[in-house]
Amino acid sequence: MMDLSLVIPLYNEDESLPELTQWIQRVMAAHHYSYEIIFIDDGSTDNSWNIIEELRSKDSNIKGIKFQRNYGKSAALNEGFKAALGEVVITMDADMQDSPDEIPELRNMIINEGYDIVSGWKKKRYDNTFSKNLPSKLFNAAARKSSGIKLHDFNCGLKAYNKKVVKSIEVYGEMHRYIPVLAKWSGFKKIGEKVVEHRPRKYGVTKFGWERFINGFLDLFSIMFVGKFGKRPMHFFGLWGTLFFMFGLVVFIYLTLSKFLFDHTGLTQRPLFFFAILAMIIGSQLFLAGFIGELIARNSPERNMYLIEEKIGL
Ligand code: UDP
Ligand code: MG
Repeated sequence: MMDLSLVIPLYNEDESLPELTQWIQRVMAAHHYSYEIIFIDDGSTDNSWNIIEELRSKDSNIKGIKFQRNYGKSAALNEGFKAALGEVVITMDADMQDSPDEIPELRNMIINEGYDIVSGWKKKRYDNTFSKNLPSKLFNAAARKSSGIKLHDFNCGLKAYNKKVVKSIEVYGEMHRYIPVLAKWSGFKKIGEKVVEHRPRKYGVTKFGWERFINGFLDLFSIMFVGKFGKRPMHFFGLWGTLFFMFGLVVFIYLTLSKFLFDHTGLTQRPLFFFAILAMIIGSQLFLAGFIGELIARNSPERNMYLIEEKIGL
């Protein structure tokens, strides 16, 4: 079996590729690993793909996937994960901010210490303090709190995975920031981290701006929500819908009784009347949303996709 798959998403990184490849080849040769480097060219408009072709012509361990346009880092990782053959899968950025020298130790933690995932932790960062380091601290704190996974640096591009993990998860949108969360939902619990060397970007510029933080937080919500209620939407919408509706109904009954028993005139003059109606309308809407969600879930081809860890006698 192949020891290692290196999955490397890239978008306009032509200057780094030759140097990065040489460095990886050096590390692989020193440890006698069997390996593949899968470059996923995420719609680069520079010379990246030509360089990948050229590198491939000299070394058949190098493989490439070229996207028609820029789909984003998550899509690139997802395709790389599908293609990977190695026992351990390592993801890293193409800009040489991650050091290939970390690979042997990361592989070691997966193989010998039994980790499902080992995430790199850029304890000392070489990015701009204000635009990256501070928001990233906040972001990581929120992700830790909501997912219960104790990682300092969710977004680090350098990570190692047991092959089983990458074959069980689907990464899309901007979900590459939450791969450990996706993995945890799929039942992979042994998630560790290792302090890794972070290096200043040598060539090119960063491909992510400030929008990353807004998108990042929205994705955190969807991921927590889908993980919890994706297969049973009625348990969320139905519950809140019923509560709202019952609240409205009780108020409405009280209003009606008080009109007939105590002869309060002008039902529609009372603010409570409008609250009651509003609550009942919101309630039925939520209930309907849950019902429609439930119908969609039933029609989803994934409704009965369960990850089976092992089988015996079959
Ligand atoms: N990247 C990609 N598609 C994109 C944006 C980025 O494949 O749409 C790649 C990029 O080429 C690099 C990695 O993702 O290899 C990390 O990007 P970057 O270095 O710009 O992020 P930063 O280090 O600034 O967080
Ligand atoms: Mg970078």
